[in-house]
Amino acid sequence: MKPILRDTFVEVNLDNIIFNIKSIKKMVGGNVAIAAVVKANGYGHGAVGIAKALMENGADYLAVAALNEAMDLRKHFKEYKLFIMGFTPDSYLEHVVENDITQTVFLYRQAEILNELGMKYNKKPVVHIKYDTGFNRLGFRDCEESIDEIEKICSLKNIYVEGIFSHLALVGKKEDEKQYHKFIKAIDSLEKRGFAFKYKHIEDSISAVDYPKYRMNMIRPGAIIYGIKGFHYGSLDLKQALTFKTKIAYIKRIAKGEGVSYDYLWKAQRDSIVGTVPFGYADGYPRNLRDKGYVTIHGKCAPIIGVICMDQCMIDLTHIPEASEGDDVIIYGDGTNNTLDIHTVSRLAETNKNEIVSRITMRPPRVYTKDNKIVNVINYIG
Ligand SMILES: *Cc1c(COP(=O)(O)O)cnc(C)c1O
Repeated sequence: MKPILRDTFVEVNLDNIIFNIKSIKKMVGGNVAIAAVVKANGYGHGAVGIAKALMENGADYLAVAALNEAMDLRKHFKEYKLFIMGFTPDSYLEHVVENDITQTVFLYRQAEILNELGMKYNKKPVVHIKYDTGFNRLGFRDCEESIDEIEKICSLKNIYVEGIFSHLALVGKKEDEKQYHKFIKAIDSLEKRGFAFKYKHIEDSISAVDYPKYRMNMIRPGAIIYGIKGFHYGSLDLKQALTFKTKIAYIKRIAKGEGVSYDYLWKAQRDSIVGTVPFGYADGYPRNLRDKGYVTIHGKCAPIIGVICMDQCMIDLTHIPEASEGDDVIIYGDGTNNTLDIHTVSRLAETNKNEIVSRITMRPPRVYTKDNKIVNVINYIG
């Protein structure tokens, strides 16, 4: 096993990832396929590090947003089915075909290029049609001309139209139902013209839990794989997989009135013990958590004080005099033992939970555990 090259690292509990994917599989049953969403480096958990746990415990596909994410997975896993849900520029489509990646298409032109490349490589590129039911991001607009265009795509001989999908805006039950019905209507028209799709899908994590009726025969869960809950109506047993950890680098005593960090925005109101911890906003920690964020040491909260720097920040240890250099620090935990959980961090940083985990950069190594033992280490740098 590789050495961990930094005190600041992301620990990923693979048992919890496996628990979550099994829990999702149990929820949807045997007739619904799972495209496990591992974009943005697996929401910060390390896509390559969790891929096997997902594919061996219920996932049918690994879904990403962009070509380079799919290619990185393909380098490590020759057999897994990979799906790019986002836009791939025409000039990069050759990589999609070379690497046997399933591509989203929402323009006839893209399908035509893939069809040509299919001939060139003697392959049948696999595509899923993206149909826009109101999100207004990517996809064929909901109209009769689009059905004609999709028919043209389905008639191309050198591609395999394996699926058709849409995405809910999650505005509320009424609007979401409208979107679903637009999607069903489009599929009906296409099926009436004699086309069939192996996979039809519209649901992400929240909708897969909240709207069992719209699961069709594939879902695309991201957040819930990692144990991040955003759903409102349904319920699902999940365990957070991520813990963000570091160690105290340095401790000093400062006198009442001294300032800490840039601009002395924090000043000691009393003689204080100040710890320096080696993480900052370049690790993905929100810089706006100054005066709001805290870390946990020996089960006690230590507030972050002063401006958060790129690579370091300072914490108040005055009330934790037993803390010493090298002690373990929990940056994000699951909320137990006074740790800052992902939901609370996101609220303090005024964003959502997915942003908090996906913004963790590649500077912290990823450390994978099973049965509380380290089983794999990924250092992206070093
Ligand atoms: C990111 C994404 C998902 C997964 O979203 P979660 O809310 O994390 O489940 C599903 N589908 C598409 C098209 C996405 O871009």
